[in-house]
Amino acid sequence: MSPDLERLVQLQNVETAIDEARRRVAAHPQRIEEADSRLNQAREVVDNAKQRLKASQETRREQEKEAATFQSRLSKFKDQLSAVKTNREYQAIQHEIETAQRELGVVEEKVLERMMEADIFAAEVKAAEQAFAAEQKTVEAAKQTLAEELAAVEAALAQATANRAAVISAMDPRLIGLFEQVARARKGMAIVTATRDGLCSACHVRLRPQVFQEVRRNDAIIQCASCNRILYFVPPPPPVEPAVTHA
Ligand SMILES: [Zn+2]
Repeated sequence: MSPDLERLVQLQNVETAIDEARRRVAAHPQRIEEADSRLNQAREVVDNAKQRLKASQETRREQEKEAATFQSRLSKFKDQLSAVKTNREYQAIQHEIETAQRELGVVEEKVLERMMEADIFAAEVKAAEQAFAAEQKTVEAAKQTLAEELAAVEAALAQATANRAAVISAMDPRLIGLFEQVARARKGMAIVTATRDGLCSACHVRLRPQVFQEVRRNDAIIQCASCNRILYFVPPPPPVEPAVTHA
């Protein structure tokens, strides 16, 4: 391969590596955010479960207060019962006692419901807290991996940038200009292979046979007539020796 083509291929390789590294560096904050948002979701589940438990406990306290009110009303009526003088008064108070007892029964039933509900809600809080703790570990590990990946990709970016400078310094400025012009127009891909059956591997247009012959020689700068990318050729590997079979 001509030195010019070789350097173009090298430049393409480092440019592609730089683009890829930059994309990954740029994607890093988003990936951290995704990890954090998973943790926030788990935290929300805990908060919601705690909120339900708290609301149930508050309701229970209200209902217990109500029960206490009915209780004291009941004992007040019972005291009055011992002091009544007429049968009519007795029946009236007896009626009040029955009513208060019925109301007390209803509210005590509600308190029992709250107590059973609280057991379920407390179990839900515990389960949510366990899930949160597990998610926290997962997210911490994921962030650790992400930090390591970022360090590696930043190192790769620094290396590729240094390599690019080295490649560029050895290149004819006109060649660099051509590369950059095509790269700008073609999403960074300025030099691509011609396929073994004579197509541009990027735009898949068939090269004229004479052009393909020239490309196969890898000794001149030839651009695809359709997409303008510079073309080179990777010859097929030599045929593999047939495996020796043992009888
Ligand atoms: Zn093409």
